[in-house]
Amino acid sequence: MSIKDNLENIILKIPSEVSLVAVSKTKPINDILEAYRCGQKVFGENKIQELVEKYDKLPKDIEWHMIGHIQRNKVKYMAPFISLVHSVDSYRLIREINKQGKINNRVINCLLQIKIASEESKFGFTEKEATDFLNSEEYESFKNIKIVGLMGMATFTDNQIKINQEFKELKIFYDKVNRSNNQINKLSMGMSDDYRIAIRNGSTMIRLGSSIFGRRTNTKKK
Ligand SMILES: *Cc1c(COP(=O)(O)O)cnc(C)c1O
Repeated sequence: MSIKDNLENIILKIPSEVSLVAVSKTKPINDILEAYRCGQKVFGENKIQELVEKYDKLPKDIEWHMIGHIQRNKVKYMAPFISLVHSVDSYRLIREINKQGKINNRVINCLLQIKIASEESKFGFTEKEATDFLNSEEYESFKNIKIVGLMGMATFTDNQIKINQEFKELKIFYDKVNRSNNQINKLSMGMSDDYRIAIRNGSTMIRLGSSIFGRRTNTKKK
């Protein structure tokens, strides 16, 4: 199956209100161009250096999303152009994004990553930390970062009941946050192996890599 076939099949299967981020990490420019020519304009990367290299080489109407864990000292490289950061997982990172947003005279849209998985390896805020931050005076004072939603990654497991439970919990929290702040209206959850479960649980944005571009061979498992 070609990238084009994969994309067309996925788009047929997902509801029109769910947006698709094509995760192009480790994949070459030509693969991204193939997806782009099929009309896909939103791509996700998980390393800032790779993101910047691809941004430089590819059409400027692509919307780039950062989906991976971020080192604060690299925020400055993506700040001029990034359109959504999914993986905001600490207060210090938020402060740095706000600072770099200010330097670039723009507002950087972000999602708060919520830790829903039982794995130690996963990053993110607890629900309480996220709520406290969103209601804080500090957040109110930040003019160059805007939290527009939440993101979560389920445990890496074949146990569909567990994945379903984790997504369901995040959706309940998201609904609560959304009721008190209607600017928070994006819920990024679901990857190639679990996006169907995520959509059933109310995801508004899925991040698919291998189901579009094929398996990544030269990387270790997440
Ligand atoms: C790699 C990655 C994806 C895409 O994973 P696939 O299983 O290839 O769809 C989605 N989200 C994050 C945060 C990732 O790092």
